[in-house]
Amino acid sequence: MIRIKSNNLACDEHLKFLKQKIEDRIKKILEDKKDILVNDETKACLICIKNNLEIILKANPDELKKIIKYFQIKYPCIAKKYEKNESKPPIYQIVYNIFVENGYDDYLSKVEIEIQKNKQKFKEEKEYHAYKLVENLGIKTCPYCNRSYISFVKNDDKKTRPQLDHFYPKAIYPFLACSFYNLIPSCSACNHMKSDDDSYNDEKDGNLVHPYNIKDSDFTFSYTFDNLDILKSIDKENIRFKDEEKIKITLDRKYEKNNDYFQLETIYQNHRDIVIELILKEINYPKSYIDELVKNGFGTEEEIYRFIFSNYLKTDDLHKRPLSKLTRDIVEELGILEKIKLLIKEK
Ligand SMILES: [Zn+2]
Repeated sequence: MIRIKSNNLACDEHLKFLKQKIEDRIKKILEDKKDILVNDETKACLICIKNNLEIILKANPDELKKIIKYFQIKYPCIAKKYEKNESKPPIYQIVYNIFVENGYDDYLSKVEIEIQKNKQKFKEEKEYHAYKLVENLGIKTCPYCNRSYISFVKNDDKKTRPQLDHFYPKAIYPFLACSFYNLIPSCSACNHMKSDDDSYNDEKDGNLVHPYNIKDSDFTFSYTFDNLDILKSIDKENIRFKDEEKIKITLDRKYEKNNDYFQLETIYQNHRDIVIELILKEINYPKSYIDELVKNGFGTEEEIYRFIFSNYLKTDDLHKRPLSKLTRDIVEELGILEKIKLLIKEK
């Protein structure tokens, strides 16, 4: 899990693009006298959403929770998980239609449809869509797993972009389907694994943390050996690449559900090769070599780290490359970072 930094500028652009469109859609429904599905309760609900639209679209993660709580009390029909065969009332269908069918999908994913219809509109709208949202956020790997890049391509021939996960599922809380801080760029594996679990409940119970609220210490990778003989022999410096199978990667975590949703600890067993490389580096990288780098003024602790481990060190940079959090945590555990720090200090 990698923290995403709040981004007010990106949020403002998002708001500028979406607010008027959603507002117009709600107005249209309210003005349609022939629509018998729009009863008084639905009307009141739509007016409430329209009047608070800006708050809903730009709410930060803590405010999103308050908004959910408000709707659960005031309009529970649009803030609950429906069973598979349970029928949904019109109020739900209407709100879902505004924010999901015609909102999130249309505005954020299918802008191109409008482009073909109307050249003028293209000029106005090409400035912002889901690609831009991802670009504005500047995150390079999936914040849930930190295993996949989430880069995008968009040109005349080809286009691909990361999926946008709704942290609070759009099926349960459709009114949050276009809210900036509810849209988390993620890899498709994580987006599919998370599906429609009720993240609001899990978060309320203290078992889940929103990606914008993560602290670096909430999740820490570590390793153990399945085979105790190896543990004994590691000091004897005879661990080899072939011992990879005997390593077990563990994830110490403050929030159990983040691990549950994305099966992080299980999936990370695929990266034992990285851990064995780091252990071998710890044992075999001569202190004199790091010493030499420091003496020659190679650079800062961060630059030496990056040179040796081909990854980023600072918490804010961890999103820039896959497996950076695993690498950093293991390097710290092995004490290599301390070694680099000390050598720099001595100099
Ligand atoms: Zn992922």
